[in-house]
Amino acid sequence: MITSKEALDLLNNEDFIQLGKRASEIRFKIHPEPIVTYVVDRNINYTNICESGCKFCAFYRKKDDKDAYLLSIKEILEKVRELNEVGGTQLLIQGGLHPEIGIDYFVKLFGEIKKHFPNIIIHSLSPAEIIHISRKSNLSILDTLKILKDAGLESIPGGGAEILVDEIRKEISPNKISWKEWEMVMREASKLGMKGTATMMFGSVETQEDIIKHLERIKMLQEETGFFRAFIPWTYQPGKNELGGKKASSYYYLRVLAVSRIFLHNIENIQASWVTQGPKVSQLALFFGANDMGGTMLEENVVSATGFRFLMDRDEIVELIKEAGFIPKVRNTRYEIIE
Ligand code: SF4
Repeated sequence: MITSKEALDLLNNEDFIQLGKRASEIRFKIHPEPIVTYVVDRNINYTNICESGCKFCAFYRKKDDKDAYLLSIKEILEKVRELNEVGGTQLLIQGGLHPEIGIDYFVKLFGEIKKHFPNIIIHSLSPAEIIHISRKSNLSILDTLKILKDAGLESIPGGGAEILVDEIRKEISPNKISWKEWEMVMREASKLGMKGTATMMFGSVETQEDIIKHLERIKMLQEETGFFRAFIPWTYQPGKNELGGKKASSYYYLRVLAVSRIFLHNIENIQASWVTQGPKVSQLALFFGANDMGGTMLEENVVSATGFRFLMDRDEIVELIKEAGFIPKVRNTRYEIIE
């Protein structure tokens, strides 16, 4: 276990190769087998209409924009059918904060999905969406989560965490929930026995201190709840949005990834982000603490909107893992190996 001060020092000063070695040692202590997992999944973005207007986001549209959309339940079910047909198990449904959608839409949607595809695990709705739904439907967060859970929601993705420091959030997503609200959703979900993941989008305007503060807050919440199955850091993608700026280097990505693995001793899985880093860097990530390649993503629209998304199919992911000397295994959302 290392302190926040030591984590900051590692991030800023440790030799690159030594940092990778140290992260790898911890990875192999937690997962002694040279297995790298991945999940067959699909991201469905039910709407791009969003009231939040985050400055880093290239995906959202205003209601009257020509390319604004809201998918019908029938359209979503068709996409889930395609996922089911290729043996997929995880469904990540996320979207904008739509001004007119309340809890009824999701209760109906999740109910239909579970009725037709009972084996699909619904890992959906970020904390910002949960809070938005609770406000639209005049419900407490706990009641919102209870209703969604009863409808079929099993796991909550940590999207929208960005950096869990309000000064940074005010700069990059001033209308979005505070870090305390993000934390509250995860805490309430944990009371219901649900699980989820934590993320971090870095490389925009935050400092190294902010990154460590983010990791510290995740670690403390994990200590209290045991809620997070995995931690997934990725880099800000600066295309076609208001915030602009530059993309973080692969070198910096790997440093942050390694420090995350070393510092978050109480989170079992660290995921490489091939969507933002590409195949080669995500392969290297396996030597900097990552033990999971994330999803095959039959569909993804949010990173794609920036123009910076990498594409890989399932065979390529498997090949990358094997080439690096690891054994690829398919998992589900619960990190149970199924193939
Ligand atoms: S990141 Fe999410 S909440 Fe922010 S503008 Fe984009 S869709 Fe809306």
